[in-house]
Amino acid sequence: MSKFWSPIVSRLTPYTPGEQPKIARLVKLNTNESPYGPSPLALQAIAREVSDSLRLYPNPDAEPLKQAIARRHAADGVSVREVFVGNGSDEVLAHAFHALLQHGKPILFPDITYSFYPTYAGLYQVEYRAVPLAEDFTLRSEDYLGHGQAIGGIIFPNPNAPTGCLLGLADVERILQGNPERVVVVDEAYIDFGGQSAIPLVQRYPNLLVVQTLSKSRALAGMRVGFAVGHADLIDALERVKNSFNSYPLDRPAIAGATAAIEDEDYFRKTCNMVIASRTALAAQLAGLGFQVLPSAANFLFVRHPQHDAAQLAAALRADGIIVRHFKSERISQFLRITIGTDEDCGVLVEALRRHLGQQ
Ligand SMILES: *Cc1c(COP(=O)(O)O)cnc(C)c1O
Repeated sequence: MSKFWSPIVSRLTPYTPGEQPKIARLVKLNTNESPYGPSPLALQAIAREVSDSLRLYPNPDAEPLKQAIARRHAADGVSVREVFVGNGSDEVLAHAFHALLQHGKPILFPDITYSFYPTYAGLYQVEYRAVPLAEDFTLRSEDYLGHGQAIGGIIFPNPNAPTGCLLGLADVERILQGNPERVVVVDEAYIDFGGQSAIPLVQRYPNLLVVQTLSKSRALAGMRVGFAVGHADLIDALERVKNSFNSYPLDRPAIAGATAAIEDEDYFRKTCNMVIASRTALAAQLAGLGFQVLPSAANFLFVRHPQHDAAQLAAALRADGIIVRHFKSERISQFLRITIGTDEDCGVLVEALRRHLGQQ
């Protein structure tokens, strides 16, 4: 604390990102990064931009990237005016809080969810109500109905994080229909690993904002690109906030690399399918070791062992050079969130767990 701080600064609760350890030869399964590299075409496009052109400002609207995203979703009627891009989906989400959820009324999100939501709520002074997930950690769409104009909006990840549980599209649509006067933000950071995106609903629901990222399924976490698809009026609001904050959130290599990554559908499908296959195999192996494994539609598993303390298991794995994520919050303190690595990574993890569980 300092006398120089604006009053809000001491009231903030900043988000704590998963650790990026400096140890070499680590099995890093803690922040849901892709175990495979970005598309080779994306890397080539990035390399081409690392040139004399860097003396010039980038395109402020990241036009080529918006066009590539609109083209990819053209069958769902998406046009460039319905696409917003930002410096990681975290920035897109922050602008959504600022531009679309700040109405002087509490917003709703699940009690167990992406921990950046309460942080943004604090930053933008948006009140919120944490809606408890069901006992089995699924989101009940009925909990988000019947609030009328007493709420300021709704946001949830689908699949949810850190549980991995998927909400079916019919339930997403129910929430949209039940809240025609409020914006519903669906954070689809993990949708490419087996879920059905809500993007096809955008043409019918002007209150829907779908947010996606290139950090997970397109292996570009280090480059920071995310986007939103929604009615042009919602996108306009995001653009107004963005242009009051930073005209150039995406640099030249990011625009070029992200555009190429979106266009390389084959590499995208291949790597997502590899992650899904590894997830199925790892879930079965962990169940075989006695873990309860929540059904996951994401690139991670959320697991608990009835006889072993999660924090102790995480510490034991860490000593082996295997990093997984453990959250201290009450309802989930006995769970571990494990990112799907390569099959080799998963094998190393399973062997270590077998040792720690005394099942060698
Ligand atoms: C990873 C993640 C994001 C943020 O991703 P960016 O790297 O900022 O694009 C957003 N929402 C959820 C639920 C996530 O897990």
